[in-house]
Amino acid sequence: MTQSPILAQGRPYLAIPGPSVMPDAVLSAMHRAAPNIYSGELVDMMPALMTDLRRVARTEHHVAMYIGNGHAAWEAALSNILNVGDKVLVPATGRFGIGWGEMATGLGADVEVLDFGLSAPMDMDRIAERLREDRDHSIKAVLGVHVDTSTSVRNDIASLRKVLDAAEHPALLMADCIASLGCDTFEMDAWGVDVMVTACQKGLMVPPGLGFVFFNDKAEAARAKVARVSRYWDWSPRAHPQEFYQYHGGTAPTHHIYGLRASLDMIHAEGIEAVWQRHAVLARAVWAACDAWSQRGSFAMNIADPAYRSHAVTALRLQAPMATELRNWVEKNLGLTLGIGLGMAAPTDPARDGFFRLGHMGHVNGQMIMGLLGGLEAGMTALGVEHGTGALDAAAKVISGTA
Ligand SMILES: *Cc1c(COP(=O)(O)O)cnc(C)c1O
Repeated sequence: MTQSPILAQGRPYLAIPGPSVMPDAVLSAMHRAAPNIYSGELVDMMPALMTDLRRVARTEHHVAMYIGNGHAAWEAALSNILNVGDKVLVPATGRFGIGWGEMATGLGADVEVLDFGLSAPMDMDRIAERLREDRDHSIKAVLGVHVDTSTSVRNDIASLRKVLDAAEHPALLMADCIASLGCDTFEMDAWGVDVMVTACQKGLMVPPGLGFVFFNDKAEAARAKVARVSRYWDWSPRAHPQEFYQYHGGTAPTHHIYGLRASLDMIHAEGIEAVWQRHAVLARAVWAACDAWSQRGSFAMNIADPAYRSHAVTALRLQAPMATELRNWVEKNLGLTLGIGLGMAAPTDPARDGFFRLGHMGHVNGQMIMGLLGGLEAGMTALGVEHGTGALDAAAKVISGTA
């Protein structure tokens, strides 16, 4: 067998679960001279931007923007509803649920984690039981991650609301939609979510740099009872600004605003339901290929039940160290970058080389997903990784609508 040639020259493909592929329309919208931040176009753009953000989140309520990443949005949301010592419940289904809880601990909250492991969704019965036990309603908020990007589980946030209602528990329902917004179906108002956090670099297709906190009137009432909210994180002036600078607590993220404008235009031109549908079909194509590969050897999807799989990211396993070797091979030889396993094994544990993830969020289409899957097939072939056959046929059937 001859050494395979290096075929990486060409447009690279970053198939990691954030930052996601950036549309040229977003990048070119950002490529401009510095705009005036005191009057003119940038200032005039903000009200419609806030409205169009709310449309993506499916809420009529409030949104505050922050210059920051998803971690900033986590902290911003918590800072507006927590007093030191308040109890929060974290039903964790991966690294990101744990991480949001750690953020709350850092702010002085009393954090209780219900840990559902690394390959299963939230167990609603156990959450219901815990809420019923909390007779004096000491739990102030439930922090639910919609799609935990580390495990690629998608939790049923609408059911979490029903569990709170059935227990007649007044805790705020807070959802992390950093990986899911603009990918998986999410209905903030219809599902009764009180606070939702997201960031711009995943389904929203903008370079990292903006975090968002959406909140309803119940959350706003909870904010009013918090003894101290740091001025910078306070969502009130950002959501209800009297002056332009208050949207951003200072200088506006000028170029990100233009990038976000372009991305929201793309999302609304396609239609948010069509965006969800596209992600659903592309995810099914990924799963069909993974199912075929799993028929032989060690290849496996982390989440067994398709009903609980994210449409934005897929976490996978291969006998260590082949997951890492496969990532390295497709990056070097094909210009295709896959996601590392995250939170599945300690950074020093050799087992970590048995986990990887595919990002399929945002600006991705059928040919990209077929290319991604074809790249994986080529990599496993090159490395002699034992795997089932027929993966690309199975994916092609989904993509072509003939499955
Ligand atoms: C990416 C992500 C985060 C963290 O966002 P950063 O921008 O990296 O701070 C948090 N939660 C989920 C579910 C994510 O996917």
